[in-house]
Amino acid sequence: MVNELDGASRSGMEGLMNRIYLDNHASTEVDPRVAQAMAEAGFGNPHSDHAVGWEAAAKIDEARAGIAMLIGANHEEIIFTSGATEANNLAILGMRRKAAEGRNKIIRSAIEHKSVIAACDHLRAEWGFEITVLPVSSEGMVDLDALEAALDERTALCTVGFVNNEIGTIQDVRSIGRLCRDASVPLHTDAVQAPLAADISDLARWCDLISLSSHKMHGPMGVGALFIAGDIQHAIAPIMFGGGQQSSLRPGTLPLQLCVGMGTAAQLCLKNEVWRNNITQTRDAFLDELRALGMQFHLNGPEPGPFRHPGNANISFPGIEADELIGLLQPQLAASSGSACTAGTIEPSYVLTALGLPTDQVRSAVRFGFAMKMDPAKAREAALLVSDAAERCT
Ligand code: PMP
Repeated sequence: MVNELDGASRSGMEGLMNRIYLDNHASTEVDPRVAQAMAEAGFGNPHSDHAVGWEAAAKIDEARAGIAMLIGANHEEIIFTSGATEANNLAILGMRRKAAEGRNKIIRSAIEHKSVIAACDHLRAEWGFEITVLPVSSEGMVDLDALEAALDERTALCTVGFVNNEIGTIQDVRSIGRLCRDASVPLHTDAVQAPLAADISDLARWCDLISLSSHKMHGPMGVGALFIAGDIQHAIAPIMFGGGQQSSLRPGTLPLQLCVGMGTAAQLCLKNEVWRNNITQTRDAFLDELRALGMQFHLNGPEPGPFRHPGNANISFPGIEADELIGLLQPQLAASSGSACTAGTIEPSYVLTALGLPTDQVRSAVRFGFAMKMDPAKAREAALLVSDAAERCT
């Protein structure tokens, strides 16, 4: 039985290895060093008061320190969650406590992830909060004047995603942080896509709350983290109740292997300049090859450079339906139209719509996401597959 399963999983891996995976904003491959650290993590309940429990707890503390280092925080400021959806919910719903101080307004941008938008909508529907939505430029940058005008003494929280998961826009988080600080409003940022995109070793200086997800940074699925600055931990109300773990802010037995995996992945992302250069080269080789093949396309979002995720290429192909193109690329190449969380619905991407793009450009947009471990030759092969599929589109 064990051998049969082993064989099945091996052939599954071989199948995956023959494919070109360009959907790294949806999820990344677990790095072998992460897998090894997880396998060696041991076992035992980290909250148990005996030697096995203490050893597990020490490994979790080490993982927490690794994540804290990635963003320039202290280890006591890192709360493990099941992923970024939960981290975003904890940050935003947790702030409802502020309503007691007469603060019942949340500011968010127009291009936030669904988990941020839905949590804000819940506060509006159930707690009577007012939600102010900030417009963005045609490149997805938040309008700082609109932010300054919206910040007031009724604002409980401002939430702006640091790196957009569809178009790769990297926000000017320092300016946003300064404006929020001047107005005494806590700033939350969904930094899920940031560890592969930028050096974030001082992010905690500019933000009060930061959401991270392990599976977007070459770690395992099922674990994430929320940074909560020490001076605002008292202001956050938990959204789950249980055995008091993690100072009751997020109770539940901590998953030792997952936490160790995320901590190791965070260490690999720290000072990730080599990774980022490699990702940039691969993405640019893909774009250059599309041009060399004579393909017509429009790159949605910012120009490649400091304000764009180095591995993001969100491309509209004139006259082509994105879903048809992606279908024709199966099973050789994985990419997505819009974000994976909204894929499957027929609504056009609200992110691309917020940039002011015409509907046909939105419907023809495909998101290619590059991460580690792909050489530029593979990216050129991907471009050839895309060009071939585009020719077969009706
Ligand atoms: N925020 C962003 C920007 C994301 O890309 C995602 C994943 N699609 C999430 C939040 C949710 O993360 P998780 O899968 O860990 O719940």
